[in-house]
Amino acid sequence: MDLKAPDKILNYIGGELKAPVLGKYIDNVNPATGEVYSKIPDSTTQDVEDAVAAAKAAFPAWSKTSAEEKFKILNRIAELIDQNLDALALAETNDNGKPLWLSKRVDIPRASSNFRFFATGLMHFATESHNMENGTVNYTLRQPIGVVGCISPWNLPLYLFTWKIAPALAAGNCVVSKPSEVTPMTGYLLSLICKEAGLPAGVLNILHGTGPNCGSAIVSHPEIKAISFTGSTRAGKDIAAIAAPMFKKISLELGGKNPNIIFADCDWEKMMRTTLQSSFANQGQICLCGSRILVEESIYNKFKAEFVERAKKLIVGDPLDDNSKQGAVVSKLHFDKVMSCIELAKQEGGTILLGGNAIKGTGRCENGYFIEPTIIEGLGADCRTNMEEIFGPVVTLQSFKTEEEALALANCSDYGLAATIWTQDVSRANRVAANVHSGIIWVNCWLLRDLRTPFGGFKNSGVGREGGWEAMRFFTDIKNVCIDL
Ligand code: NAD
Repeated sequence: MDLKAPDKILNYIGGELKAPVLGKYIDNVNPATGEVYSKIPDSTTQDVEDAVAAAKAAFPAWSKTSAEEKFKILNRIAELIDQNLDALALAETNDNGKPLWLSKRVDIPRASSNFRFFATGLMHFATESHNMENGTVNYTLRQPIGVVGCISPWNLPLYLFTWKIAPALAAGNCVVSKPSEVTPMTGYLLSLICKEAGLPAGVLNILHGTGPNCGSAIVSHPEIKAISFTGSTRAGKDIAAIAAPMFKKISLELGGKNPNIIFADCDWEKMMRTTLQSSFANQGQICLCGSRILVEESIYNKFKAEFVERAKKLIVGDPLDDNSKQGAVVSKLHFDKVMSCIELAKQEGGTILLGGNAIKGTGRCENGYFIEPTIIEGLGADCRTNMEEIFGPVVTLQSFKTEEEALALANCSDYGLAATIWTQDVSRANRVAANVHSGIIWVNCWLLRDLRTPFGGFKNSGVGREGGWEAMRFFTDIKNVCIDL
């Protein structure tokens, strides 16, 4: 295959590449250069109708396709993603602004892992049986739901898109999906890969367009029985409001404001190295980034001095340059939002220890959206800066004296996605892990992912869990069959 990002991308419906019914397109901008480099369909209800019809038509055959045949096709998609690593990574970087080395090392390999993981998973998926004393047998059937919707965000585009699509297909569903309109290119290239891999027409449909025009038409379509969504808490609320009265299954992976709790007895070098990553990787645009750094008082000043010194050395620049540790933030809109959050932090009385400014790129990046790694201190737990998700290269520092105080600060948030704990004391690590109100806890590490583990958040960070059998269970309907033998 020779995958190239075209000037104009198309929807993938019923196995064909199609222009949007109303013929409208929106601009796709490279955030590192600020230039429009392609057009994407501004799909609407009419396109969603077509995609649902194609998915419905494909469902009877796909849901009855043997496990081995489904495995072969999904595994072939994984192989083709691997074979096209360079083209996909370049497309991801041009769309998103993240360093090319990161797309190559993390985003694209994870997309193929997602397909491979669920391709093999479907071969091993089993159901329960409950036998009663009188000989009655209950067994559980898990059947594919039918047509399901998958909607994903811009921060880890192909990585998160495939994290939903792969289990939905593995469980025997047909899918109507939409990647973010801000980063649609790898979703489009995946359509070409699926054609090449022999995925039957209509089994997967990939539409492009905005949340209001296309996303909400997917969510509100009566034939789409389940919605798997990753994105902002704001959009998650809107989706739940539409889907709940229609009694759809929903899985919502939403925002975060994750605490990174650092005790004095931590492994200093590992903590420091990892905290730089958990603060600024992908320009801080990972829902799992630790944006509230809580440091035990006895090491606060030492931490602050070294953290600032090391963050100062992070090179922000052209994502195509191997030396750039950070690239551009994803869009002008997001750039403005992050800069306004920094302004708010100043108004709230925060002290900017490092950064706080836009960076003027050079050469082709002159008009790109670059922001300095930014570290802020001096703010209490209940100000907007420490309560609201910023989703950029911006972290705050707070100190605590006791474990109780650390927990109170960690849990003082409407979000509950992830938390990181740094301590060498095993008892404390277990105690704190049990008491932090978050769905994902890392102790002495960050972003180590075993795809079998449940993934998702508490509170405003979401509803339901992805990953492993949780995802396969979400994408199936459950039926108990009771037989009096
Ligand atoms: P977003 O909510 O603006 O958009 C996400 C997707 O939903 C896009 O495809 C968008 O077009 C679509 N959409 C928007 N409004 C919609 C609506 N009303 N109905 C249907 N679809 C709609 O989010 P974003 O700005 O693309 O992504 C950043 C957010 O995603 C952050 O809040 C981040 O924390 C969150 N996120 C969460 C996780 C997680 O696993 N919990 C992972 C990554 C990102």
